[in-house]
Amino acid sequence: MTTAMRSSTISATVDFDADGVQHGFLRLPCSRDDAAWGSVMIPLAVVKNGAGPTALLTGGNHGDEYEGPIALFDLARRLTASDVSGRVIIIPAMNQPAFAAGTRTSPIDRGNLNRAFPGRPDGTVTEKIADYFQRVLLPMADVVLDFHSGGKTLDFLPFCAAHILPDKAQEAKAFDLVRAFGAPFSVKMLEIDAVGMYDTAAEDQGKVFVTTELGGGGSASATTARIAMEGCRNLLIAASILRGEVPVQPTRWLDMPDGDCFTFAEDAGLIQFAVDLGDTVAKGDTIALIHPVGRTGEEPICLTARRAGIFAARHFPGLVKQGDCVAVVAVEINS
Ligand code: CA
Repeated sequence: MTTAMRSSTISATVDFDADGVQHGFLRLPCSRDDAAWGSVMIPLAVVKNGAGPTALLTGGNHGDEYEGPIALFDLARRLTASDVSGRVIIIPAMNQPAFAAGTRTSPIDRGNLNRAFPGRPDGTVTEKIADYFQRVLLPMADVVLDFHSGGKTLDFLPFCAAHILPDKAQEAKAFDLVRAFGAPFSVKMLEIDAVGMYDTAAEDQGKVFVTTELGGGGSASATTARIAMEGCRNLLIAASILRGEVPVQPTRWLDMPDGDCFTFAEDAGLIQFAVDLGDTVAKGDTIALIHPVGRTGEEPICLTARRAGIFAARHFPGLVKQGDCVAVVAVEINS
């Protein structure tokens, strides 16, 4: 007996095969207290002009990361069909309920979209969004760019990244696009928790997948917003979808080769960093002090670098909890 996969309850108000510029929605029926027959409306734009590659561009996979949405709402407003060879699908707020609430996960079901893949057509709202990307949108794409930043709890050096992959041709194409994106830093990424990620879903379908971490703290700076906007355009040029020349920009390549790159808090408290993002640290250097806050007169806990490198990411809020990732030290490499 075969079980047919249930179809998605999400419907698109656009025709993905039509030439021209379309602004519309992915509509996901969501019955709730304030709207019995309500819907989650995920805005999207499709810009298509004839045959050619498809780029799927997403922001707001986590709802408190803003460079991607800024770059993609801007691009959706500006892009005309004659600019494009092929198709660009722009979804600035992929997990729209999380984006609207300004939270990493969805307020409807607490779903973390980037841990929900491949999703379920009959699952939670977040699982239904994942399933639609998995079975409808990713198969249309050749190139996938998913914008991230640190959100409210992390802050990153601005970087574009791809993963080390078993398929070296697929990996090389991804790193070509990372180079074209032209962020100040470029990273060969090791995921500490790859299960359920959109990244993995795209890569498993053979797509050329590129991501970013462009700052954080629950806001975007003028610099990181500009990096996102310019990088997106450069990537589309390198993918032969937009015309133009990719400007040659210096980028510093970083690697996060193993678990020693990550430092986790074993104690809760008030964090005082001893170094700032971009600083060079030696193995054993003090990265941060965690001050106990229950009483005065207690010595702080000293967190030291477990390897030499560049201080690439940090915990953002002033108070840390036990188990929080406090610091990431990356290694500069030639590439
Ligand atoms: Ca993120």
